Amino acid sequence: MTTEPRSAAEGARRADALFRRVFGGTPRGVWSAPGRVNLIGEHTDHNGGLCLPIALGHRTYVALRARADGAVRVVSAQHPHDGPATLSSPVTPGRAAAVTGWPAYIFGVASLLRAHLGAADPAAAVPGAAVPGADIAIDSCVPQGAGLSSSAALECAVACALAAVAGADIGDPHLRSVLVDVTRAAENDVVGVPSGAMDQSAALLAAAGHALLLDAADGTATPVPFDTAAMGASLLIVDTRTAHALVEGGYATRRAECAAAERALGVRTLSGADDADVVGLADPLLRARARHVLTENARVRAFVEELAAPVPAPQRLGALLDASHASLRDDFAVSTDELDCAADAAREAGAFGARMVGAGFGGAVLALVPADGAARIAERITDAFRAAGLPDPACYPAHPSAPARSER
Ligand code: ADP
Ligand code: MG
Repeated sequence: MTTEPRSAAEGARRADALFRRVFGGTPRGVWSAPGRVNLIGEHTDHNGGLCLPIALGHRTYVALRARADGAVRVVSAQHPHDGPATLSSPVTPGRAAAVTGWPAYIFGVASLLRAHLGAADPAAAVPGAAVPGADIAIDSCVPQGAGLSSSAALECAVACALAAVAGADIGDPHLRSVLVDVTRAAENDVVGVPSGAMDQSAALLAAAGHALLLDAADGTATPVPFDTAAMGASLLIVDTRTAHALVEGGYATRRAECAAAERALGVRTLSGADDADVVGLADPLLRARARHVLTENARVRAFVEELAAPVPAPQRLGALLDASHASLRDDFAVSTDELDCAADAAREAGAFGARMVGAGFGGAVLALVPADGAARIAERITDAFRAAGLPDPACYPAHPSAPARSER
């Protein structure tokens, strides 16, 4: 069984209803931002390379009303046992960083936005806007902790809502790029999760019917038309619902290995290394890590090239997904038995190709499947999990969807 995302009308209605129940009265509006899945280009963004996310139809909805006293109060339907969490004025990054748990994401965004959008500050990135305090109600159908970036969906929906009530034009491309920086800083510096800008860029800059080519070397973001229906295909996400204890340690270890490979190669980022120099690396482990980065960048380029064909061939795109999975499993060593099982079962059931997505050590697999095959392939993967004694995975369809926006 696959779980469709909520309709925008239903998502907005739920956030609005939660707001009225908890805070009383009516919100000023409802804003939303999507989760994302990365088509290809894994472990490349922290190595100065390429990735290619799409925004998902799964979105986080935020109903918000400004408060005159400068405080921020938040409630989330996904954490029903927590009453509203409050950060009284002054809402500063330092005070936000002292908060534990999910409210820190929201307080982080609110505090950093204040520093960037300030009526009194002529140096502000968007002068003339002052970010007020707010009552904020959240509801979401982005699965949390599945590697589909519920954290960026939350940050970006809150950032758009606050910017909009501050009087900024959230359709403005300059403001959107400021919001990418602010939301990423909230996650990195306030919550303390070291991540690149892929998640926030996808949530704020992606376009419906498109993938977004991100180049960490120069910070560019380029929309790439991606019409799965025209090629007789669709995307299926299989969340293995496993997060291994290794996640954080494993990620830090891989980053340290990449840094060691950079030093050995004398390059600033692995994406800037020469193939021949990587082949000549003495340490086989560092050689494999660097090889993954270079071959993965090449696969992103090949994927984008295929998408430029009059009718892209899903078989060729699928082969690139398979090769990405093999490289993440063998050269970068971040796959798991569950991820391998999901990718293998997807291929055996008729997928064009499949690969693990996200940092690895658990999380989800993305499969490119025939347009009418998603439900059947999801069932076959579930059968394979049961046969292997694993808990049932959760399956979601993925369509390239709209970025953060106002809902009502
Ligand atoms: P991912 O971004 O892959 O889903 P993360 O660990 O980066 O996983 O982010 C998940 C965290 O983000 C949650 O544990 C929670 O703190 C916060 N979060 C995401 N969505 C919501 C939500 N709807 N309500 C409250 N907190 C949320
Ligand atoms: Mg996240």
